[in-house]
Amino acid sequence: MGRTTLADNGLELNGMETLCQSESVWSPLVDRFGRTHTYLRVSLTDRCNFRCTYCMPKRGIEWMPSKSLLGDDEVVRLASVFARLGVTKIRLTGGEPAIRKGFVELVGRIKAIPGVEKLLMTTNGTALRANAERLHRAGLDGLNISIDSLQPERFKTITHRDVLSEVLAGIEAALEAGIPVKLNVVVMPGVNDDELLDFVELTRSKPITVRFIEFMPFSGNEWKADKVFGYREMRSVIEAKYALLQRDGEPSEVAKEFRIEGFKGTVGFITSMTEDFCSDCNRVRLTADGRLKTCLFLAPKNSLRDMARTGSCDEEIAAAIHSGLQTKWAGHPPMGAWKQYDNLSMVQIGG
Ligand code: SAM
Ligand code: SF4
Repeated sequence: MGRTTLADNGLELNGMETLCQSESVWSPLVDRFGRTHTYLRVSLTDRCNFRCTYCMPKRGIEWMPSKSLLGDDEVVRLASVFARLGVTKIRLTGGEPAIRKGFVELVGRIKAIPGVEKLLMTTNGTALRANAERLHRAGLDGLNISIDSLQPERFKTITHRDVLSEVLAGIEAALEAGIPVKLNVVVMPGVNDDELLDFVELTRSKPITVRFIEFMPFSGNEWKADKVFGYREMRSVIEAKYALLQRDGEPSEVAKEFRIEGFKGTVGFITSMTEDFCSDCNRVRLTADGRLKTCLFLAPKNSLRDMARTGSCDEEIAAAIHSGLQTKWAGHPPMGAWKQYDNLSMVQIGG
């Protein structure tokens, strides 16, 4: 494996300084387009206890061998390097992060890293009834829970698991534990678009955010443009019944968020397909086997795991992150041509 040099990143060493002694690598993660990256999403596993039709390929996937996955110490070390590079927000995802052994303890260790202000997790919710309280105590700051239908039979058809009641109990447990909750709903025409208003109704009495997500193309998920239920269409269905009032968010927030007068929760839309938010992107990703991914839609780059396992110092890993980031595009590849970019399945990336 070739070693990354500081020069690759436009950084310079002083005199006899070696890369491992260099302080100059610890500069913010700014890419070629001036975007500063402060948000890391870490996949804890590519495995999952669900088989969601829009995420997991029908043919299945070849699981990463266990020894190729980052170990707990490696996750913590790499997260610390990112934190020294200015990352303040980390999201744990997967596959299903909660099927990883010891995930609650890992939450506690990552939250303790200096610089990590916000630690979040995206989960299908099945482990929350048993673990929400522990996650809260470990310092988790928020949960995104995926739920695409409130109807048991339909939930089963989408996820191939008959566990809607478990997930609903998990949502309640998270709220009772005092963890802020967002629900992720992938909306697809003819599949669950008739439940938009039912989901909005949940926000009347519960302090949750429901986020409607446009269906995105990934390897093996049989995406077609006509399977996307677009943001404007969703809004018009909802606005036929409720007035959506704009909420101001950070520019890098992916969701367009709205409130409804008198409702405790809020409603958001993730519009990756119809109105992308690439110009404000502040995210980088780490796959479960430790590869750096600069964009949801581009193939992963260098293996930080290999560097960690072959004795690279933190500064060398930091330099490799800088140089990987310089390959990030201004926007994502055109969706019509996404296949040519050798992407992974969503379950292998982590949303
Ligand atoms: N297993 C966890 C879960 O389901 O929440 C975390 C991983 S999952 C890949 C992360 C998020 O990606 C979920 O909210 C899921 O709904 C979303 N997702 C998966 N495939 C998608 C697709 N093709 N288009 C849009 N969102 C997708
Ligand atoms: Fe698993 Fe989440 Fe993908 Fe569903 S969306 S198959 S729960 S990783």
